[in-house]
Amino acid sequence: MAELTHFYEYFQPTHYNIYLDINRGTKQFSGRTTITGNAKAEKIALHQKYLEINTITVDGTSVEFTMDNDHDAVRFSVPKTGEVTIIVDYKAPLTDSMMGIYPSYYEVNGEKKQIIGTQFETNFARQAFPGIDEPAAKAKFDLAIKFDEQPGETVLANMPEQKVENGVHYFDTTVRMSTYLVAFAFGDLQSKTTTTKSGVKVGVFGTKAHQAKELDFALDIAKRSIEFYEDFYQTPYPLPHSWQLALPDFSAGAMENWGLVTYREAYLLLDPDNTALEMKQLVATVIAHELAHQWFGDLVTMQWWDDLWLNESFANMMEYVAIDAIQPDWHIWELFQTSDVPSALQRDATDGVQSVHVAVEDPAEIDALFDGAIVYAKGARMLVMVRALLGDDALRKGLKQYFATHQYGNAKGANLWAALADASGMNVGEIMNSWLEQPGYPVVTAAVENGKLTLSQQQFFIGQGQDAGRKWQIPLNSNYAAAPKIMADRQVTLGDYAQLRDENGQPFRLNQGNNSHFIVKYDATLLQDILDHLSDLDAIDQLALLQDQRLLAEGGQISYADVVPLLARFADSHSNVVNAALYQVANNLKKFVTPDSAEEKHLQALFDKLSAAQVARLGWTPQAGESNDDQLTRPYVLSAALYAKNAAAVASAHDLFTANKADLAALPADIRMFVLRNEVKNYGSAERFEQLLTAYRQTSDASYKADIRAALTSTTDPELVQRLISHFEDADTIKPQDLRGWYRGVLANDAGQQAAWDWLRNDWQWLEDTVGGDMEFTTYITVTAGIFHTPERLAEFKAFFEPKLNTPGLTREIKMDIKVIESRVNLIEAEKAAVNQAIAQA
Ligand SMILES: [Zn+2]
Repeated sequence: MAELTHFYEYFQPTHYNIYLDINRGTKQFSGRTTITGNAKAEKIALHQKYLEINTITVDGTSVEFTMDNDHDAVRFSVPKTGEVTIIVDYKAPLTDSMMGIYPSYYEVNGEKKQIIGTQFETNFARQAFPGIDEPAAKAKFDLAIKFDEQPGETVLANMPEQKVENGVHYFDTTVRMSTYLVAFAFGDLQSKTTTTKSGVKVGVFGTKAHQAKELDFALDIAKRSIEFYEDFYQTPYPLPHSWQLALPDFSAGAMENWGLVTYREAYLLLDPDNTALEMKQLVATVIAHELAHQWFGDLVTMQWWDDLWLNESFANMMEYVAIDAIQPDWHIWELFQTSDVPSALQRDATDGVQSVHVAVEDPAEIDALFDGAIVYAKGARMLVMVRALLGDDALRKGLKQYFATHQYGNAKGANLWAALADASGMNVGEIMNSWLEQPGYPVVTAAVENGKLTLSQQQFFIGQGQDAGRKWQIPLNSNYAAAPKIMADRQVTLGDYAQLRDENGQPFRLNQGNNSHFIVKYDATLLQDILDHLSDLDAIDQLALLQDQRLLAEGGQISYADVVPLLARFADSHSNVVNAALYQVANNLKKFVTPDSAEEKHLQALFDKLSAAQVARLGWTPQAGESNDDQLTRPYVLSAALYAKNAAAVASAHDLFTANKADLAALPADIRMFVLRNEVKNYGSAERFEQLLTAYRQTSDASYKADIRAALTSTTDPELVQRLISHFEDADTIKPQDLRGWYRGVLANDAGQQAAWDWLRNDWQWLEDTVGGDMEFTTYITVTAGIFHTPERLAEFKAFFEPKLNTPGLTREIKMDIKVIESRVNLIEAEKAAVNQAIAQA
């Protein structure tokens, strides 16, 4: 919206004094905010939302003001430009929206309790105090908090507490920082603390509903991550402490508030004695991500939200760089290859997707920017390409320079490219702009034409796409020296293929290591050559090969029926990444079969064939001292065996359930979900169902909760499906932050899909009221589109969502998701017969 201006142009705060008096009982707070700053004009505006302002004084004189709620503003005049001091007195409600200042609810020993916390990114600081709520408007903050305090409660903020006077907690003045990074919290908390080598205090805080040992893992990862970043960035951690706080109600995954990082409980606290390795790795990367932001994002901040990628893409890459350095035995980049890479390649192939860098003004559109697959995953992939081109020495040198130049200030993408160019002598910006500014990515076709090895690039689409003639500068990472380092042209010829093959002595390959954001379509000759030497490829290159074949099939460039016979060749791999790619293809075949049909039986037989030897090798129970690969592979093959209805697998899972009936939480976390799901699906009863639902309500272990959810949503009993859905809006059972997983689970269940879909359509308004202010809202649409695959559902989806196309923040998602379902429906129609034939023969 063109009418929106940045308020910072008219008033530039240098210092805030914020006093808040918060009452949990009445769900109200009152505040007095004193802002000193430089007025550039006589008519100025401050951001505010839901604030009931009593008075505003400027330099001691009360002024008239106008509320402009459409623009989240209060407008007034100052008597003169230049330095002014503004005092605003106000009150406001505490809302349950998980934005601004908000309560988190939980229970300890049956007693209901609350923690108050904050979430100010992107633009919710204005719900707590008036000010210039824009990332470029950096200032220093003095925070003073009073609340309905009970004995033993803890108060946390960005900076250490300075003093308590008359029940008011005063905190040290912050460094110069953006409003969206201000944070505080209070409640009845437990904690563990330690100190880094350089003297930074590190702490982990959570409610007393958790066991104390659940804080240990995070404390260790946080401490070592900060030590790693201080060394890697060659820039000290800028604050005296780094608190990590788990909040029972939390909208995003975590939030990098400077010095007081907040997390979903599931992403911070875990039982060190019984948590799957994959979950530990995930939690570690979340912590490392937020701590990467303490420099990249907090110390140096994007100028405006269009450069959000600067923050998120960078932190998303650094989480892997950091964990790889502090926990090398995890091979954490494999997780990048099985999570971020496929999600980026999938979403970025749909026409209409956003580019990593997006122009944005409307606040409603800012939240829609947080597209995980693009701004986080694709952006990280982009920076992985930069890192591979530059090498770590130049990267670190460039970063040090970047922090030194822009610390306590703001920067744009061009500033980062300039620092990296200085350090490396490479024109990084020119190479990266093709990836940053353009949506989508290329498929590089490698073919032997008239005896010549030829490469060409073209944008890759899944579903209908309009070729806009886009071209990328592609780091090829070929194993043949004849291939250019960067392919900038639409087409290149590398020379006589027979001669090149002879000279190189190995099959021709592109994108070794799968670090560049493109896929490869080899012609039949080149592909056969690679397949003939499959065992020469390392695990990630095998994953990339399978993944590219899958995407080419999704995009209609090859037939899915040709991919099916390849699967068996990978089935005995001991690598978890190869198994991840293999079962991603196999699971994608499920959409081609009708439930309870002969075709489904054939697919189940294929799953059985693929998994049988691995199930026999690995068994159900994790062995002490087994490799990470084995631990991470077991879930894929057990899941496959259960889908195959393998009688021995079903019986083993049932036996494990029976043997552990008294304490199901104690089942090994790696296999617990499969045991519980098998039980609900094949041996379910209403009694068992209620027992698990009660366990879900009572446990504070997020992994166990997720396992119970997966089990309960797989019930085939229509009455139990209805019972589940009746709890969707019951926050005492399912917190709004966790609802999407439940909805998705029931929707993906053939026996539950109709009921879940009816619920979404009937109660859309409730959903919007409950999570509508929130970045997660649009993902309910994404999740639905990820499952639907019939013409009937497509028609219903369109009928429901097309009338909402003009809702700010939803437009792009609805348009893209219609394409996503359409392309899937078309693919199934075109390929169903051939795919099922290939499955029957495999
Ligand atoms: Zn982030």
